[in-house]
Amino acid sequence: MAAAATSAAVSTAVSEMTFGARIPDFFDSLDPATGDLVGSFAVHDDDAVRAVVADARRAAQWWADLGFPGRERRLKAWKSAIIRRVDDLAELMHREGGKPVADGTLEIVLAVEQIGWAAGHAAKVLERRRVRPGLLMPNQAATVEYQPYGVVGVIGPWNYPVYTPMGSLAYALAAGNAVVFKPSPYTPAVGRWLVERFAEVVPEHTVLSLVTGDADTGTALCRAGVDKLAFTGSTATAKKVMAVCAETLTPVLLECGGKDALVVDSDADVGAAADAALWGAMSNSGQTCIGIERVYAVDAVYDEFVRALADRARHVRPGPERGADYGPMTTPQQLDVVRRHVDDALARGGRAVVGGPGSVRPPYVDPVVLVDVPEESAAVTEETFGPTVTVTRVRDADEAVDRVNASRYGLGAAVFGQARAVEIAHRVRSGMASVNSVIAFAAVPALPFGGVGDSGFGRVHGADGLREFTRPKSVTRQRFTPPLRLTTFRRRPLAVKATVGLVRLVHGRR
Ligand code: NAD
Repeated sequence: MAAAATSAAVSTAVSEMTFGARIPDFFDSLDPATGDLVGSFAVHDDDAVRAVVADARRAAQWWADLGFPGRERRLKAWKSAIIRRVDDLAELMHREGGKPVADGTLEIVLAVEQIGWAAGHAAKVLERRRVRPGLLMPNQAATVEYQPYGVVGVIGPWNYPVYTPMGSLAYALAAGNAVVFKPSPYTPAVGRWLVERFAEVVPEHTVLSLVTGDADTGTALCRAGVDKLAFTGSTATAKKVMAVCAETLTPVLLECGGKDALVVDSDADVGAAADAALWGAMSNSGQTCIGIERVYAVDAVYDEFVRALADRARHVRPGPERGADYGPMTTPQQLDVVRRHVDDALARGGRAVVGGPGSVRPPYVDPVVLVDVPEESAAVTEETFGPTVTVTRVRDADEAVDRVNASRYGLGAAVFGQARAVEIAHRVRSGMASVNSVIAFAAVPALPFGGVGDSGFGRVHGADGLREFTRPKSVTRQRFTPPLRLTTFRRRPLAVKATVGLVRLVHGRR
């Protein structure tokens, strides 16, 4: 109750800042395991969101003018402020999202790494640099730099409420933008915690601000005049976000859902593959965009793999206690999706070798391992986002690649094997892939993260993630008058002839 009282006090302060005399609606964030109140939050409507974005615009210039070293110092202070209180934040993540405290702690560690990388590399990646002027313009000095957009809107999901939005928050901020962040209505307290820590280390202006609410608030943010919108969430919502942003030609970054597959080749360490598939499928209750939802195991190791996976899965248990393997489903809707996918798979002739329809016992879902599930089943084609996995027998690794690539999604993938594993990782249609491990790419800050197809486009993390939040600016400066003047009405025919001769010499050789 003490936490709820504090939340209410802060909510009131927020409402005074952004709603003027009006009294906003409030919504509650609840503990998914117990139903206890975690906090009450204002619903930011169109006017309130516009007011926050206007404030952010004032802060943006100040933040951009700080330059790379000034921003790096402050972002590193933010990272320190977060990790010093890692236990508080992990506890809050546990209460609001249901994930075990240890999982929350690891998520924070990954996010802090991302802040450090973005802060430490922004100058090197984005600063003005000279480029070669090329054959036709030797008299020009040419530079490119990457300038911030101004104000970036970030809309986040609930499943990794720290790590996932951080890919946009830290990188947009390091690139010199102010950010308005709308966390999921299922995890607003975690979002607010991050924004509060930032305000402690950057007290001068509201460079990072918070708006709370659901779809209408997200739509309002898309329409509020932000210079770019970074969205992470489901593919269905991404399409709506993109449609609204199209009204004002606001550029979008879309990090959407996935249906990641794991391939087990004939020369794989089957025990390691089973271990990784289990963790990839079940951790965080399977509510992981890059979680393993499908396994394709080649005939030679299929039976051994299914046995190894089933043996391990029978020992994995969700629950409310700290030592549980994973927690409750965060939202009631996800329970319905899991139930529908399992029922459909069984109705179409699939078999559950671990669990079954009875595994759905709200708010928890026990592990479900499905085999012989037809490829056109929802459990194979749609994102399940629960602790279930299908295992399918394939002739060889080439058939596995064809099956993996038949999906409309393409976020991550994993391959277990030796001789051909790296080749297969390069051939699967996905934004990321890991060989002999799962989701390792997500913990390497220098690697861009994002998908293809229905998994979205654009990238967070790494140098590409920094550039994502900038506009390239190209400038040429004439150093001397060229001997062959081409861009004048007083151009001499000889100038064109000599230029073509030069280009023929360089490019025309067979
Ligand atoms: P969601 O699409 O329901 O909601 C995401 C966010 O969008 C929330 O903040 C929500 O309030 C907001 N929103 C909802 N409707 C909106 C609208 N019409 N306009 C603007 N904003 C709107 O997704 P979710 O259930 O919160 O998250 C789970 C999904 O996110 C899964 O599909 C998962 O795969 C995906 N995800 C992707 C990544 C990635 O990096 N690719 C990471 C994490 C989660």
